Amino acid sequence: SFVGGVGSHDGQFIGQYICLRRLIGLCRASGQEAARTQTTSPRSRKREILRMSNGKRVLVVEDNELNLRLFCDLLTAHGYQSEPVSDGRDVMARAAAFQPELIIMDIQLPHVSGMDLIAAVKADAALSATPILAVTAYAGRDDEQRIRDAGAEGYISKPISVIRFMEAVELLI
Ligand code: MN
Repeated sequence: SFVGGVGSHDGQFIGQYICLRRLIGLCRASGQEAARTQTTSPRSRKREILRMSNGKRVLVVEDNELNLRLFCDLLTAHGYQSEPVSDGRDVMARAAAFQPELIIMDIQLPHVSGMDLIAAVKADAALSATPILAVTAYAGRDDEQRIRDAGAEGYISKPISVIRFMEAVELLI
């Protein structure tokens, strides 16, 4: 594979790599659009974004290193503190230590199921109030319902657009 260790279990690396290139383009386009449509200056728009996010803590669970880095970079660029977790088996300990205000949860993980992790978070007294944004390659309506039934407050399917991703984050946090 192109990036060390990314032998994606869902075999989507190439697609995700192409997707990343597209996301970078989208990110630029979205910045330009924001600059065009905002009556305020880009600088005050950036201040507003940082005020809203205000360093809030987001735990990001994603086994694909490229996606993990992309999500964390995006969050950091929007003023959040992001904490990457690439191994689902570490989620509960890392969440207990980091005390996230939002958890972004990949559903397709090796070793553990994102669905089981959602249930575990929702069963944990200290974490149950933390909103969860599930990220999945599935697109079916049944899958979305199953994910919501497991306790996730939000749901977004791959391929992810930067705009939809940030909107979904800001809705929940
Ligand atoms: Mn995955």
